[in-house]
Amino acid sequence: MDLYIDRKRTLLPRIDAIYVLARLMLLVVIGWYAFFGPGESAPRIYWTVILGTFLLQSGYVLLSTRTKLDIRPAYVVSLVYDLALVPVLVYYTGGVDSSFYLVLCLTVSIAAYVLTFPVASATVILASVGYLAVVFPQLTADNYFNVIVRLGFIWIYYLVISYALDYFRRSESRMLKLFNTLNMRTSELEKSQAQLEHIYENSRVLASILDTEGLVLAVDRIMGRVFGYGDYAIILITKGGYQYRVRCVDGVANYTPEDVDVCQMEIIRRVGNIGEPVRIPDTRKRRDYVALGGQSRSAMAVPMVARGRASGVLLAESAERDHFNERDIQLLSIVARSAAMALENAALHKRTEELTIMDELTRAFNYRHFVKKLDEEKKRAARYKMPLSIIMVDIDHFKRFNDTNGHEAGNVVLRELAKIIKGCIRDVDIFARYGGEEFVIVLPQTDLRAARVIGERIREQVEAHKVHLPELGPRTITVSVGVSSYPENGRSEDELVDAADKALYQAKGDGRNM
Ligand code: GH3
Ligand code: MG
Ligand code: MG
Repeated sequence: MDLYIDRKRTLLPRIDAIYVLARLMLLVVIGWYAFFGPGESAPRIYWTVILGTFLLQSGYVLLSTRTKLDIRPAYVVSLVYDLALVPVLVYYTGGVDSSFYLVLCLTVSIAAYVLTFPVASATVILASVGYLAVVFPQLTADNYFNVIVRLGFIWIYYLVISYALDYFRRSESRMLKLFNTLNMRTSELEKSQAQLEHIYENSRVLASILDTEGLVLAVDRIMGRVFGYGDYAIILITKGGYQYRVRCVDGVANYTPEDVDVCQMEIIRRVGNIGEPVRIPDTRKRRDYVALGGQSRSAMAVPMVARGRASGVLLAESAERDHFNERDIQLLSIVARSAAMALENAALHKRTEELTIMDELTRAFNYRHFVKKLDEEKKRAARYKMPLSIIMVDIDHFKRFNDTNGHEAGNVVLRELAKIIKGCIRDVDIFARYGGEEFVIVLPQTDLRAARVIGERIREQVEAHKVHLPELGPRTITVSVGVSSYPENGRSEDELVDAADKALYQAKGDGRNM
Protein backbone atom coordinates (compact mmCIF):
# COMPACT_ATOMS: atom_id res chain seq x y z
CA MET A 1 0.00 0.00 0.00
CA ASP A 2 1.33 3.44 -0.86
CA LEU A 3 2.08 5.65 2.08
CA TYR A 4 2.43 8.99 0.35
CA ILE A 5 0.49 10.80 -2.30
CA ASP A 6 2.71 11.49 -5.31
CA ARG A 7 3.58 15.13 -4.86
CA LYS A 8 5.98 15.40 -7.76
CA ARG A 9 3.34 15.72 -10.43
CA THR A 10 0.97 18.08 -8.69
CA LEU A 11 0.20 21.72 -9.09
CA LEU A 12 -0.97 21.91 -5.45
CA PRO A 13 1.24 24.29 -3.46
CA ARG A 14 3.67 22.99 -0.86
CA ILE A 15 2.26 23.67 2.56
CA ASP A 16 5.61 23.59 4.40
CA ALA A 17 5.65 27.30 5.24
CA ILE A 18 2.07 27.26 6.55
CA TYR A 19 2.78 24.13 8.55
CA VAL A 20 5.91 25.62 10.12
CA LEU A 21 3.87 28.72 11.01
CA ALA A 22 1.19 26.55 12.66
CA ARG A 23 3.87 24.68 14.63
CA LEU A 24 5.28 28.02 15.74
CA MET A 25 1.89 29.12 17.09
CA LEU A 26 1.52 25.84 18.93
CA LEU A 27 5.04 26.29 20.26
CA VAL A 28 4.06 29.67 21.74
CA VAL A 29 1.01 28.13 23.40
CA ILE A 30 2.97 25.18 24.83
CA GLY A 31 5.73 27.58 25.88
CA TRP A 32 3.18 29.74 27.69
CA TYR A 33 1.88 26.66 29.57
CA ALA A 34 5.45 25.56 30.36
CA PHE A 35 6.51 28.87 31.87
CA PHE A 36 3.36 30.74 32.91
CA GLY A 37 0.60 28.11 32.88
CA PRO A 38 -1.33 27.20 36.07
CA GLY A 39 0.96 25.02 38.13
CA GLU A 40 -1.78 22.55 39.02
CA SER A 41 -2.32 21.53 35.35
CA ALA A 42 0.89 19.46 35.33
CA PRO A 43 4.32 19.62 36.93
CA ARG A 44 6.44 22.19 35.10
CA ILE A 45 9.04 19.53 34.29
CA TYR A 46 6.43 17.65 32.22
CA TRP A 47 5.74 20.79 30.25
CA THR A 48 9.46 21.29 29.69
CA VAL A 49 9.75 17.74 28.32
CA ILE A 50 6.76 18.35 26.05
CA LEU A 51 8.25 21.64 24.89
CA GLY A 52 11.65 20.03 24.31
CA THR A 53 10.34 17.12 22.26
CA PHE A 54 8.04 19.48 20.37
CA LEU A 55 11.00 21.72 19.59
CA LEU A 56 13.03 18.74 18.39
CA GLN A 57 10.25 17.45 16.22
CA SER A 58 9.37 20.87 14.77
CA GLY A 59 13.08 21.52 14.19
CA TYR A 60 13.20 18.38 12.06
CA VAL A 61 10.30 19.69 9.94
CA LEU A 62 11.98 23.10 9.65
CA LEU A 63 15.30 21.50 8.72
CA SER A 64 13.61 19.42 6.02
CA THR A 65 12.00 22.48 4.48
CA ARG A 66 15.28 24.41 4.49
CA THR A 67 17.51 21.64 3.06
CA LYS A 68 17.26 19.09 0.26
CA LEU A 69 16.04 16.45 2.72
CA ASP A 70 12.83 14.62 1.80
CA ILE A 71 10.11 16.49 3.71
CA ARG A 72 7.71 13.54 3.76
CA PRO A 73 9.35 11.52 6.57
CA ALA A 74 9.35 14.74 8.62
CA TYR A 75 5.59 14.97 8.16
CA VAL A 76 5.10 11.31 9.15
CA VAL A 77 7.25 11.79 12.26
CA SER A 78 5.27 14.90 13.07
CA LEU A 79 1.96 13.01 12.62
CA VAL A 80 3.05 10.15 14.87
CA TYR A 81 4.30 12.66 17.42
CA ASP A 82 0.99 14.56 17.32
CA LEU A 83 -0.97 11.32 17.83
CA ALA A 84 0.80 11.00 21.17
CA LEU A 85 1.05 14.74 21.95
CA VAL A 86 -2.60 15.71 21.56
CA PRO A 87 -3.96 13.27 24.19
CA VAL A 88 -1.19 14.37 26.56
CA LEU A 89 -1.96 18.06 25.98
CA VAL A 90 -5.69 17.42 26.39
CA TYR A 91 -5.03 15.40 29.55
CA TYR A 92 -2.92 18.13 31.17
CA THR A 93 -5.25 20.99 30.21
CA GLY A 94 -8.55 19.82 31.56
CA GLY A 95 -9.61 16.74 29.54
CA VAL A 96 -13.12 17.22 28.19
CA ASP A 97 -12.87 20.98 28.76
CA SER A 98 -9.52 21.36 26.96
CA SER A 99 -9.43 23.18 23.61
CA PHE A 100 -6.26 21.36 22.57
CA TYR A 101 -8.35 18.85 20.62
CA LEU A 102 -8.24 21.57 17.92
CA VAL A 103 -4.63 20.60 17.26
CA LEU A 104 -6.16 17.47 15.68
CA CYS A 105 -7.44 19.70 12.85
CA LEU A 106 -3.83 20.37 11.96
CA THR A 107 -2.96 16.68 12.22
CA VAL A 108 -5.92 15.68 10.07
CA SER A 109 -5.12 18.29 7.42
CA ILE A 110 -1.51 17.14 7.14
CA ALA A 111 -2.59 13.49 6.96
CA ALA A 112 -5.06 14.28 4.17
CA TYR A 113 -2.48 16.36 2.31
CA VAL A 114 0.48 14.03 2.55
CA LEU A 115 -0.81 10.48 3.02
CA THR A 116 -2.94 8.25 0.86
CA PHE A 117 -6.58 7.99 1.86
CA PRO A 118 -6.42 4.61 3.71
CA VAL A 119 -3.30 5.61 5.68
CA ALA A 120 -4.69 9.06 6.41
CA SER A 121 -8.01 7.55 7.57
CA ALA A 122 -6.14 5.11 9.86
CA THR A 123 -4.29 8.12 11.30
CA VAL A 124 -7.56 9.93 11.97
CA ILE A 125 -9.01 6.80 13.63
CA LEU A 126 -5.92 6.55 15.86
CA ALA A 127 -6.22 10.25 16.76
CA SER A 128 -9.92 9.78 17.62
CA VAL A 129 -9.15 6.73 19.76
CA GLY A 130 -6.33 8.61 21.56
CA TYR A 131 -8.61 11.55 22.31
CA LEU A 132 -11.45 9.28 23.45
CA ALA A 133 -9.10 7.30 25.73
CA VAL A 134 -8.07 10.53 27.48
CA VAL A 135 -11.57 11.97 27.93
CA PHE A 136 -13.34 8.64 28.57
CA PRO A 137 -12.92 8.64 32.39
CA GLN A 138 -14.53 12.09 32.53
CA LEU A 139 -17.54 11.23 30.40
CA THR A 140 -20.92 12.00 32.00
CA ALA A 141 -24.43 12.31 30.69
CA ASP A 142 -23.83 16.10 30.50
CA ASN A 143 -20.67 16.14 28.41
CA TYR A 144 -20.60 13.02 26.20
CA PHE A 145 -22.57 14.93 23.56
CA ASN A 146 -19.82 17.58 23.59
CA VAL A 147 -17.19 14.91 22.83
CA ILE A 148 -19.29 13.42 20.03
CA VAL A 149 -19.71 16.87 18.44
CA ARG A 150 -15.95 17.47 18.62
CA LEU A 151 -15.05 14.12 17.10
CA GLY A 152 -17.79 14.54 14.49
CA PHE A 153 -16.38 17.93 13.64
CA ILE A 154 -12.85 16.47 13.23
CA TRP A 155 -14.16 13.69 10.95
CA ILE A 156 -16.31 15.96 8.81
CA TYR A 157 -13.40 18.36 8.54
CA TYR A 158 -11.11 15.48 7.48
CA LEU A 159 -13.59 14.09 4.92
CA VAL A 160 -14.24 17.53 3.38
CA ILE A 161 -10.53 18.22 3.02
CA SER A 162 -9.89 14.71 1.62
CA TYR A 163 -12.71 15.05 -0.86
CA ALA A 164 -11.65 18.53 -1.98
CA LEU A 165 -8.03 17.46 -2.39
CA ASP A 166 -8.99 14.29 -4.24
CA TYR A 167 -11.26 16.24 -6.56
CA PHE A 168 -8.53 18.75 -7.25
CA ARG A 169 -5.94 16.06 -7.90
CA ARG A 170 -8.21 14.23 -10.30
CA SER A 171 -8.97 17.38 -12.28
CA GLU A 172 -5.32 18.16 -12.18
CA SER A 173 -4.34 14.77 -13.56
CA ARG A 174 -6.89 15.16 -16.35
CA MET A 175 -5.43 18.56 -17.12
CA LEU A 176 -1.87 17.22 -17.10
CA LYS A 177 -2.92 14.46 -19.48
CA LEU A 178 -4.45 17.10 -21.72
CA PHE A 179 -1.25 19.13 -21.57
CA ASN A 180 0.71 16.03 -22.46
CA THR A 181 -1.46 15.34 -25.46
CA LEU A 182 -1.22 18.96 -26.46
CA ASN A 183 2.56 18.87 -26.18
CA MET A 184 2.73 15.69 -28.19
CA ARG A 185 0.49 17.12 -30.90
CA THR A 186 2.51 20.32 -31.01
CA SER A 187 5.79 18.49 -31.36
CA GLU A 188 4.25 16.22 -34.01
CA LEU A 189 3.06 19.31 -35.84
CA GLU A 190 6.45 20.95 -35.59
CA LYS A 191 8.12 17.81 -36.86
CA SER A 192 5.74 17.50 -39.75
CA GLN A 193 6.16 21.17 -40.62
CA ALA A 194 9.93 20.82 -40.63
CA GLN A 195 9.58 17.75 -42.84
CA LEU A 196 7.25 19.63 -45.18
CA GLU A 197 9.66 22.54 -45.47
CA HIS A 198 12.46 20.08 -46.17
CA ILE A 199 10.43 18.35 -48.86
CA TYR A 200 9.36 21.67 -50.33
CA GLU A 201 12.97 22.88 -50.50
CA ASN A 202 14.07 19.66 -52.17
CA SER A 203 11.15 19.70 -54.60
CA ARG A 204 11.97 23.28 -55.53
CA VAL A 205 15.47 22.18 -56.46
CA LEU A 206 13.96 19.61 -58.84
CA ALA A 207 12.48 22.37 -60.99
CA SER A 208 15.92 23.71 -61.85
CA ILE A 209 17.28 20.36 -63.07
CA LEU A 210 17.06 20.11 -66.86
CA ASP A 211 18.33 16.61 -67.57
CA THR A 212 16.55 13.35 -66.87
CA GLU A 213 19.59 11.68 -65.33
CA GLY A 214 20.16 14.47 -62.81
CA LEU A 215 16.48 14.51 -62.00
CA VAL A 216 16.33 10.78 -61.27
CA LEU A 217 19.30 11.16 -58.91
CA ALA A 218 17.66 14.12 -57.13
CA VAL A 219 14.39 12.20 -56.61
CA ASP A 220 16.45 9.22 -55.46
CA ARG A 221 18.10 11.43 -52.84
CA ILE A 222 14.73 12.73 -51.62
CA MET A 223 13.24 9.25 -51.29
CA GLY A 224 16.31 7.78 -49.63
CA ARG A 225 17.49 10.63 -47.40
CA VAL A 226 14.57 12.98 -46.85
CA PHE A 227 11.83 10.33 -46.54
CA GLY A 228 14.26 7.70 -45.32
CA TYR A 229 12.72 4.86 -47.30
CA GLY A 230 14.80 1.69 -47.51
CA ASP A 231 12.86 -0.04 -50.27
CA TYR A 232 11.68 2.15 -53.11
CA ALA A 233 11.77 2.54 -56.87
CA ILE A 234 11.70 5.31 -59.45
CA ILE A 235 9.93 4.11 -62.56
CA LEU A 236 9.80 6.17 -65.76
CA ILE A 237 7.43 5.67 -68.66
CA THR A 238 9.36 5.08 -71.87
CA LYS A 239 8.19 4.48 -75.42
CA GLY A 240 8.37 0.74 -74.78
CA GLY A 241 6.58 0.74 -71.42
CA TYR A 242 7.73 1.13 -67.82
CA GLN A 243 11.36 1.16 -66.79
CA TYR A 244 13.03 1.06 -63.36
CA ARG A 245 15.55 3.91 -63.22
CA VAL A 246 16.31 3.35 -59.55
CA ARG A 247 15.54 0.18 -57.63
CA CYS A 248 16.53 0.41 -53.99
CA VAL A 249 16.33 -2.64 -51.73
CA ASP A 250 17.41 -2.45 -48.06
CA GLY A 251 18.99 0.96 -48.70
CA VAL A 252 21.15 -0.33 -51.59
CA ALA A 253 20.24 1.38 -54.85
CA ASN A 254 20.62 -0.12 -58.31
CA TYR A 255 20.77 2.46 -61.11
CA THR A 256 20.80 0.10 -64.09
CA PRO A 257 17.69 0.74 -66.20
CA GLU A 258 15.51 -2.35 -66.24
CA ASP A 259 12.10 -2.94 -67.76
CA VAL A 260 9.19 -3.41 -65.35
CA ASP A 261 7.40 -6.69 -65.85
CA VAL A 262 3.90 -5.22 -66.02
CA CYS A 263 2.34 -8.68 -66.15
CA GLN A 264 3.48 -9.16 -62.55
CA MET A 265 3.29 -5.48 -61.64
CA GLU A 266 -0.08 -4.73 -63.22
CA ILE A 267 -0.68 -2.12 -60.53
CA ILE A 268 2.15 0.09 -61.86
CA ARG A 269 0.49 0.29 -65.24
CA ARG A 270 -2.83 1.10 -63.61
CA VAL A 271 -1.33 3.91 -61.52
CA GLY A 272 0.39 5.29 -64.64
CA ASN A 273 -2.74 5.07 -66.77
CA ILE A 274 -5.23 6.45 -64.29
CA GLY A 275 -2.81 8.92 -62.74
CA GLU A 276 -4.06 8.26 -59.20
CA PRO A 277 -1.95 7.05 -56.26
CA VAL A 278 -2.60 3.60 -54.78
CA ARG A 279 -2.02 2.33 -51.25
CA ILE A 280 -1.30 -1.36 -50.77
CA PRO A 281 -1.91 -2.24 -47.09
CA ASP A 282 -0.78 -5.85 -47.52
CA THR A 283 1.46 -6.71 -50.48
CA ARG A 284 1.12 -10.44 -49.80
CA LYS A 285 -2.57 -10.32 -50.54
CA ARG A 286 -2.08 -8.76 -54.00
CA ARG A 287 -1.67 -10.75 -57.17
CA ASP A 288 -0.86 -7.63 -59.21
CA TYR A 289 2.11 -6.56 -57.13
CA VAL A 290 5.52 -8.10 -56.42
CA ALA A 291 7.43 -6.41 -53.59
CA LEU A 292 10.91 -5.06 -54.27
CA GLY A 293 12.25 -6.11 -50.88
CA GLY A 294 11.78 -9.54 -49.29
CA GLN A 295 10.68 -7.98 -45.99
CA SER A 296 8.13 -5.62 -47.50
CA ARG A 297 4.56 -5.92 -46.24
CA SER A 298 2.91 -2.72 -47.46
CA ALA A 299 3.51 -0.24 -50.26
CA MET A 300 2.30 2.88 -52.01
CA ALA A 301 2.57 3.82 -55.66
CA VAL A 302 2.31 7.48 -56.67
CA PRO A 303 2.11 8.65 -60.29
CA MET A 304 4.37 11.41 -61.59
CA VAL A 305 1.76 13.57 -63.29
CA ALA A 306 2.19 16.97 -64.92
CA ARG A 307 -0.38 18.67 -67.17
CA GLY A 308 -2.56 15.57 -66.97
CA ARG A 309 0.15 13.30 -68.38
CA ALA A 310 1.96 10.65 -66.35
CA SER A 311 5.69 10.34 -66.93
CA GLY A 312 6.47 7.76 -64.26
CA VAL A 313 5.60 6.15 -60.95
CA LEU A 314 7.26 6.44 -57.54
CA LEU A 315 7.09 3.35 -55.36
CA ALA A 316 7.82 3.02 -51.64
CA GLU A 317 7.59 -0.04 -49.42
CA SER A 318 7.60 -0.78 -45.70
CA ALA A 319 8.22 -3.92 -43.67
CA GLU A 320 5.20 -2.98 -41.56
CA ARG A 321 1.67 -3.92 -42.57
CA ASP A 322 -0.55 -0.96 -43.53
CA HIS A 323 2.32 1.43 -42.88
CA PHE A 324 1.50 4.26 -45.28
CA ASN A 325 -1.30 6.73 -44.61
CA GLU A 326 -2.95 9.52 -46.58
CA ARG A 327 -0.28 11.96 -45.44
CA ASP A 328 2.53 9.78 -46.77
CA ILE A 329 0.74 9.65 -50.11
CA GLN A 330 0.32 13.42 -50.09
CA LEU A 331 3.96 14.09 -49.28
CA LEU A 332 5.29 11.73 -51.93
CA SER A 333 2.79 13.20 -54.40
CA ILE A 334 4.36 16.64 -53.89
CA VAL A 335 7.71 15.22 -54.95
CA ALA A 336 6.16 13.19 -57.78
CA ARG A 337 4.38 16.24 -59.19
CA SER A 338 7.51 18.40 -59.01
CA ALA A 339 9.55 15.64 -60.63
CA ALA A 340 6.98 15.22 -63.42
CA MET A 341 7.00 18.96 -64.09
CA ALA A 342 10.78 18.96 -64.16
CA LEU A 343 10.85 15.97 -66.52
CA GLU A 344 8.49 17.78 -68.83
CA ASN A 345 10.67 20.89 -68.64
CA ALA A 346 13.75 18.81 -69.37
CA ALA A 347 12.12 17.34 -72.48
CA LEU A 348 11.00 20.79 -73.59
CA HIS A 349 14.47 22.16 -72.97
CA LYS A 350 16.02 19.37 -75.04
CA ARG A 351 13.58 20.01 -77.89
CA THR A 352 14.18 23.78 -77.80
CA GLU A 353 17.90 23.27 -77.73
CA GLU A 354 17.66 20.89 -80.69
CA LEU A 355 15.52 23.38 -82.59
CA THR A 356 18.11 26.09 -82.20
CA ILE A 357 20.86 23.96 -83.72
CA MET A 358 18.95 21.61 -86.02
CA ASP A 359 17.45 21.92 -89.47
CA GLU A 360 13.90 20.63 -89.17
CA LEU A 361 13.54 19.21 -92.68
CA THR A 362 16.71 17.14 -92.81
CA ARG A 363 17.58 16.73 -89.08
CA ALA A 364 21.07 17.95 -89.96
CA PHE A 365 22.67 20.74 -87.93
CA ASN A 366 21.90 24.24 -89.16
CA TYR A 367 24.34 26.76 -90.63
CA ARG A 368 24.84 28.61 -87.31
CA HIS A 369 25.81 25.42 -85.49
CA PHE A 370 28.12 24.47 -88.37
CA VAL A 371 29.98 27.79 -88.04
CA LYS A 372 30.37 27.32 -84.29
CA LYS A 373 31.52 23.71 -84.61
CA LEU A 374 33.93 24.44 -87.45
CA ASP A 375 35.50 27.16 -85.31
CA GLU A 376 35.90 24.75 -82.37
CA GLU A 377 37.26 21.92 -84.49
CA LYS A 378 39.69 24.16 -86.37
CA LYS A 379 41.06 25.48 -83.05
CA ARG A 380 41.44 21.95 -81.77
CA ALA A 381 43.17 20.84 -84.98
CA ALA A 382 45.56 23.81 -84.75
CA ARG A 383 46.32 23.15 -81.08
CA TYR A 384 47.00 19.43 -81.51
CA LYS A 385 48.48 19.80 -85.00
CA MET A 386 45.96 17.45 -86.50
CA PRO A 387 44.35 17.47 -89.93
CA LEU A 388 40.73 18.56 -90.45
CA SER A 389 38.66 18.30 -93.62
CA ILE A 390 35.38 19.61 -94.90
CA ILE A 391 33.20 18.19 -97.62
CA MET A 392 30.58 20.19 -99.51
CA VAL A 393 27.78 18.44 -101.31
CA ASP A 394 25.38 20.09 -103.81
CA ILE A 395 22.59 18.37 -105.71
CA ASP A 396 22.94 18.54 -109.49
CA HIS A 397 20.24 20.34 -111.43
CA PHE A 398 18.00 20.48 -108.41
CA LYS A 399 16.11 23.46 -109.71
CA ARG A 400 15.08 21.38 -112.69
CA PHE A 401 14.14 18.47 -110.41
CA ASN A 402 11.93 20.79 -108.43
CA ASP A 403 10.34 22.22 -111.52
CA THR A 404 9.60 18.77 -112.93
CA ASN A 405 8.53 16.92 -109.79
CA GLY A 406 7.37 19.66 -107.46
CA HIS A 407 8.74 21.24 -104.33
CA GLU A 408 7.39 18.43 -102.08
CA ALA A 409 9.27 15.81 -104.07
CA GLY A 410 12.36 18.00 -103.73
CA ASN A 411 11.93 17.92 -99.96
CA VAL A 412 11.76 14.12 -100.00
CA VAL A 413 15.02 14.10 -101.92
CA LEU A 414 16.65 16.43 -99.40
CA ARG A 415 15.60 14.16 -96.53
CA GLU A 416 16.85 11.01 -98.29
CA LEU A 417 20.13 12.65 -99.22
CA ALA A 418 20.67 13.63 -95.57
CA LYS A 419 20.12 10.00 -94.56
CA ILE A 420 22.62 8.74 -97.14
CA ILE A 421 25.26 11.23 -96.04
CA LYS A 422 24.71 10.36 -92.36
CA GLY A 423 25.28 6.73 -93.24
CA CYS A 424 28.64 7.55 -94.85
CA ILE A 425 30.17 9.48 -91.92
CA ARG A 426 31.26 8.83 -88.32
CA ASP A 427 29.51 9.96 -85.13
CA VAL A 428 32.23 12.53 -84.47
CA ASP A 429 31.75 14.15 -87.89
CA ILE A 430 29.52 17.22 -87.99
CA PHE A 431 26.91 17.16 -90.72
CA ALA A 432 25.06 20.40 -91.47
CA ARG A 433 22.76 21.96 -94.03
CA TYR A 434 24.79 24.78 -95.50
CA GLY A 435 21.76 26.29 -97.21
CA GLY A 436 19.19 25.30 -99.86
CA GLU A 437 20.28 21.98 -101.34
CA GLU A 438 23.87 22.32 -100.22
CA PHE A 439 25.31 20.30 -97.33
CA VAL A 440 28.61 20.45 -95.50
CA ILE A 441 30.45 17.91 -93.37
CA VAL A 442 33.27 18.72 -90.92
CA LEU A 443 35.61 15.76 -90.46
CA PRO A 444 37.94 16.11 -87.45
CA GLN A 445 41.31 14.30 -87.60
CA THR A 446 40.77 13.50 -91.29
CA ASP A 447 43.27 14.41 -94.01
CA LEU A 448 42.54 15.27 -97.62
CA ARG A 449 43.06 11.74 -98.89
CA ALA A 450 40.59 10.19 -96.42
CA ALA A 451 38.11 13.03 -97.01
CA ARG A 452 38.23 12.42 -100.77
CA VAL A 453 37.39 8.77 -100.18
CA ILE A 454 34.37 9.71 -98.09
CA GLY A 455 33.28 12.36 -100.62
CA GLU A 456 33.52 9.83 -103.41
CA ARG A 457 31.57 7.30 -101.35
CA ILE A 458 28.76 9.81 -100.86
CA ARG A 459 28.65 10.60 -104.54
CA GLU A 460 28.53 6.88 -105.44
CA GLN A 461 25.83 6.00 -102.95
CA VAL A 462 23.61 8.92 -104.04
CA GLU A 463 23.94 7.88 -107.67
CA ALA A 464 23.07 4.29 -106.82
CA HIS A 465 20.09 5.20 -104.63
CA LYS A 466 16.55 5.29 -105.92
CA VAL A 467 14.30 7.89 -104.33
CA HIS A 468 10.71 6.65 -104.27
CA LEU A 469 8.37 9.57 -104.72
CA PRO A 470 4.72 9.13 -103.77
CA GLU A 471 2.62 8.88 -106.97
CA LEU A 472 5.64 9.70 -109.17
CA GLY A 473 7.68 6.54 -108.67
CA PRO A 474 11.43 6.08 -108.42
CA ARG A 475 13.90 8.79 -109.34
CA THR A 476 17.67 9.06 -109.18
CA ILE A 477 19.72 12.14 -108.49
CA THR A 478 23.40 12.95 -108.49
CA VAL A 479 25.54 15.27 -106.42
CA SER A 480 28.73 17.15 -106.93
CA VAL A 481 31.25 17.12 -104.10
CA GLY A 482 34.04 19.50 -103.10
CA VAL A 483 36.68 18.70 -100.51
CA SER A 484 39.25 20.83 -98.68
CA SER A 485 41.64 20.18 -95.84
CA TYR A 486 43.37 22.04 -93.06
CA PRO A 487 46.13 23.13 -93.24
CA GLU A 488 47.01 22.60 -96.90
CA ASN A 489 43.94 24.30 -98.50
CA GLY A 490 43.48 27.07 -95.96
CA ARG A 491 44.34 28.11 -92.44
CA SER A 492 41.16 29.99 -91.57
CA GLU A 493 37.62 28.64 -91.60
CA ASP A 494 36.64 31.00 -94.45
CA GLU A 495 39.59 29.87 -96.56
CA LEU A 496 38.65 26.24 -95.97
CA VAL A 497 35.01 26.78 -96.94
CA ASP A 498 36.06 28.81 -100.00
CA ALA A 499 38.42 26.07 -101.10
CA ALA A 500 35.74 23.37 -100.77
CA ASP A 501 33.28 25.62 -102.60
CA LYS A 502 35.73 26.20 -105.43
CA ALA A 503 36.37 22.47 -105.72
CA LEU A 504 32.60 21.90 -105.83
CA TYR A 505 32.13 24.39 -108.63
CA GLN A 506 35.02 22.84 -110.49
CA ALA A 507 33.14 19.54 -110.30
CA LYS A 508 30.02 21.30 -111.61
CA GLY A 509 32.01 22.86 -114.40
CA ASP A 510 33.61 19.53 -115.31
CA GLY A 511 30.24 17.91 -115.89
CA ARG A 512 28.72 17.30 -112.40
CA ASN A 513 28.33 13.99 -110.51
CA MET A 514 31.97 14.05 -109.55
P1 GH3 B 1 23.45 22.96 -110.08
O1 GH3 B 1 23.63 22.99 -108.62
O2 GH3 B 1 23.63 21.60 -110.67
O3 GH3 B 1 24.27 23.98 -110.79
O4 GH3 B 1 21.96 23.34 -110.39
P2 GH3 B 1 20.86 23.68 -109.40
O5 GH3 B 1 19.55 23.72 -110.10
O6 GH3 B 1 20.91 22.75 -108.24
O7 GH3 B 1 21.28 25.12 -109.02
P3 GH3 B 1 20.92 26.09 -107.83
O8 GH3 B 1 21.86 25.86 -106.73
O9 GH3 B 1 20.83 27.44 -108.41
O10 GH3 B 1 19.47 25.66 -107.41
C1 GH3 B 1 19.13 25.41 -106.11
C2 GH3 B 1 17.73 25.00 -106.06
O11 GH3 B 1 17.43 24.25 -104.96
C3 GH3 B 1 16.82 26.19 -106.05
C4 GH3 B 1 15.70 25.79 -105.15
O12 GH3 B 1 14.50 25.59 -105.89
C5 GH3 B 1 16.10 24.44 -104.61
N1 GH3 B 1 15.93 24.43 -103.20
C6 GH3 B 1 16.61 25.11 -102.29
N2 GH3 B 1 16.15 24.82 -101.03
C7 GH3 B 1 15.14 23.94 -101.19
C8 GH3 B 1 14.25 23.28 -100.28
O13 GH3 B 1 14.30 23.43 -99.06
N3 GH3 B 1 13.32 22.41 -100.81
C9 GH3 B 1 13.26 22.20 -102.14
N4 GH3 B 1 12.35 21.36 -102.61
N5 GH3 B 1 14.05 22.84 -102.99
C10 GH3 B 1 15.00 23.68 -102.56
MG1 MG C 1 22.51 22.38 -107.08
MG1 MG D 1 23.13 25.06 -104.92
